[in-house]
Amino acid sequence: MNYISTRNKNFKAAPSRAILDGIAPDGGLYVPESFPFFERGDLLKMSDMSYPERLAEVLSRFLTDFSKDELLVYAEKACEKFDGDPCPLVKIEEDVYVLELFHGATSAFKDMALSVMPYLMTAAKKKLNDTAKTLILVATSGDTGKSALEGFGGVEGTDIMVLYPKDGVSGVQKAQMTTSPGENVNVAAVNGNFDDAQTAVKKIFADKDIKEKLRAKNVELSSANSINIGRLIPQTAYYISAYLDLLGAGDIEFGEEVNFAVPTGNFGNILAAYYAKKAGLPVGKLVCASNKNNVLTDFFLTGEYNADRKFFQTASPSMDILISSNLERFLFDLSGEDDGLIAELMNDLKKKGKYSIGNGLLAKCGGIIFAGYADDKACFKTVKDFYESYDYVLDTHTAVAVSVLDGFLNGEAGGGAKTVAVSTASPYKFAADVYFALTGEKIENPFEAIKRLEAYTGAEVPDGLKDLDKKEERFKDVIEKDGAGEAVLRFANR
Ligand SMILES: *Cc1c(COP(=O)(O)O)cnc(C)c1O
Repeated sequence: MNYISTRNKNFKAAPSRAILDGIAPDGGLYVPESFPFFERGDLLKMSDMSYPERLAEVLSRFLTDFSKDELLVYAEKACEKFDGDPCPLVKIEEDVYVLELFHGATSAFKDMALSVMPYLMTAAKKKLNDTAKTLILVATSGDTGKSALEGFGGVEGTDIMVLYPKDGVSGVQKAQMTTSPGENVNVAAVNGNFDDAQTAVKKIFADKDIKEKLRAKNVELSSANSINIGRLIPQTAYYISAYLDLLGAGDIEFGEEVNFAVPTGNFGNILAAYYAKKAGLPVGKLVCASNKNNVLTDFFLTGEYNADRKFFQTASPSMDILISSNLERFLFDLSGEDDGLIAELMNDLKKKGKYSIGNGLLAKCGGIIFAGYADDKACFKTVKDFYESYDYVLDTHTAVAVSVLDGFLNGEAGGGAKTVAVSTASPYKFAADVYFALTGEKIENPFEAIKRLEAYTGAEVPDGLKDLDKKEERFKDVIEKDGAGEAVLRFANR
């Protein structure tokens, strides 16, 4: 099975090629040419499997130039880095569950894919007889950065450079990244917000001059952002796994639809849920939850995507995004793979900062997505209420999803089906805001906030977040967004 570009579906690439490229040469995003379909028998067979086995099964259906045996090795190695079950499903009350995706090395859901992706990338290079050094270039709103540093740190034949928005990440997130060990890693702050960092990275990918200079050193760029299908495909596995867990617990009958509520930024995580649905999983509605940067909520309401608006820094910084890249893939699919339309819309976005879709396509979106948003006030209230009701501490991103989910369940469309809220981070990653939500007390120092939150809730601090304040800060560079290309070349030439 090949992958095709959303902006020209005649352009095809093998899965390994798509993973190595990150982005299609025409600037489009790679999508599966066709979707595998998990029949009832396939799913039932997977019920008895461990998570790494389920992951390998899913990967093998999407990444057809990899063997199932090698994928199982990668999946098992990746899952070793998790603290116990990589994706436990916690029952909160009748019909409502939380899917915890934060038990990896960096305490955010990005680990679910980024722990396996370096294996996929190294293997893809071998398959393609590619001997170049790979430079992974990442723009992060906070969590992808550390997760990619963790995954690619020390990987042979690979360098990794992470750009994060200077004032746009939590204190814990910043410390996690700037204390990263390894010879092959580099981290810099960009003066600007996440969209500035993401735009700078996209520009470098499109810059022939930079690419040639790198090529002269036998270095090829690649991406670990969710524009890379090597990020997306592993994410479909935990939706399937959660469904199988519900079946295994006897909480659903086979075929019963389950809704998922997803805290959304770049639209990668929720798109993976949609891909699971395409692959045959009985998924009902997808609740697309945004914070005050509610460009997606407006889009699904009106059909106009308008990124030309005020940018807010919120307590859920990993969702502070105005350009949700993976929406392109969703619209490509719902439009019946209308590559001409997608190319036009993305051109409008680039030139005018906005685009509009017709009513037919909007109605199709509405058949799948329920969109809503929660500002910080609503998010904090949800953290507190949830703790008081269920003795369960939500992080600020997950709380946005739970807040929007409440609106869904109380509205016309809600009710009936079981719903899973996808939890994307440990509360300790955003300890200061979570502690404030619970107690009304502001703690400036992020490490002090971790201690206070631990004392208040009694929940254990994940290993990766312990003693962060005692580690040496290795990376202090702050660059302008126009200087990102130079910084990448300096790193490659070091
Ligand atoms: C990245 C991230 C999100 C947003 O996920 P997308 O795939 O970008 O939509 C939500 N919450 C947390 C904690 C994240 O790190």
